[in-house]
Amino acid sequence: STTDVSDEPGRGEDREGFDEITILWISEGMSCDGDTVSLTAADQPSIEDVVLGLIPGLPKVNLVNKVLSPSLGGEDFLAPYRAAARGDLAPFILVIEGSIPNQNIIEGDGYWTSFGNDPETGEPQTLNWWIDQLAPKAWAVVAAGTCATFGGIHAMSGNPTGCMGLADYLGWDYTSQGGLPVVNVPGCPIQPENFMETLVWVLYHAAGSAPPPPLDHMLRPQWLFGKTVHEGCDRGSYYEQAGFAKDYNSPKCLVKTGCWGPVVNCNVPKRGWMAGIGGCPNVGGICIGCTMPGFPDAFMPFMDEPPGGTLSSLVIKPYGAVIRRLRGMTNELVNHEPRWRHNKRKLTSGYNP
Ligand code: SF4
Ligand code: SF4
Ligand code: SF4
Repeated sequence: STTDVSDEPGRGEDREGFDEITILWISEGMSCDGDTVSLTAADQPSIEDVVLGLIPGLPKVNLVNKVLSPSLGGEDFLAPYRAAARGDLAPFILVIEGSIPNQNIIEGDGYWTSFGNDPETGEPQTLNWWIDQLAPKAWAVVAAGTCATFGGIHAMSGNPTGCMGLADYLGWDYTSQGGLPVVNVPGCPIQPENFMETLVWVLYHAAGSAPPPPLDHMLRPQWLFGKTVHEGCDRGSYYEQAGFAKDYNSPKCLVKTGCWGPVVNCNVPKRGWMAGIGGCPNVGGICIGCTMPGFPDAFMPFMDEPPGGTLSSLVIKPYGAVIRRLRGMTNELVNHEPRWRHNKRKLTSGYNP
């Protein structure tokens, strides 16, 4: 279902930027709408800042999202999507939330998920139909959340829908009218600022004032997903000193209670969840790898110690025990004031004029 648009006009480096662009957001994938809800918590910048035109240099943005829409719904709400599908609305950014079911396995025998009805037949129009119509015409395509990026919870082993991420559906070599691959922002749900930073980068690129966002081999923004949870975790120093929690009632490292942070790409411990507060292991929650392509199967059963955790905690134990003791002694030492700070009649600081 990928369309080669590489020779079509409007692509390439020498194009001019857009003054106005529409965001067509569809959350009718296999989805809980959690990414849209999470988005409303962003404030660096907020989606309101973007829509109200408060960010210098961005195009005017028309956001169409069913949860955030003032429209009453129905055909009124669907009008911009239909216009885009006809080719009468451009440029637009297509945002997909939720995983894409496999219609091929039930072709002709119903549908998994739909978005509006065909005005002529009254039959439901599948998400797949909309993606087939809109992705080849979109200036950029963004996948919001782990379901849309890699399949997520709905795509776990044993699922009946055969669902998948957007790049699995469109092809990992898909490129949009703007010359971009699918831009993946995983997370279950998206961390609000992670999504907004990515969206703003794409919008600056649409305005002609920024290069394409740098993406890694899984099409994730490099600057957001280039480090592991462990590398940003508040509890990392406990790990290094072999201080491992045995239950959740502890400030120590959570690897033995099921944290996968050392091998998971996610910046949430550094960034927090809302307004810098929270961040999974920082605040006592094990990392279950919710941003990862292998989620959830690769991280189950949740709350069991990861296989690698046994080895790494064993190896670090002797080092950690010695270092913790030595640091304890030094800590005791530096917790005293020097002897020359007193109110006696003689100066003993070593001053020698
Ligand atoms: Fe919901 Fe998580 Fe899927 Fe987003 S990624 S739609 S929050 S289940
Ligand atoms: Fe690493 Fe998890 Fe321990 Fe934090 S709690 S230091 S992420 S293993
Ligand atoms: Fe998901 Fe782990 Fe990141 Fe928390 S720290 S958001 S569980 S990947």
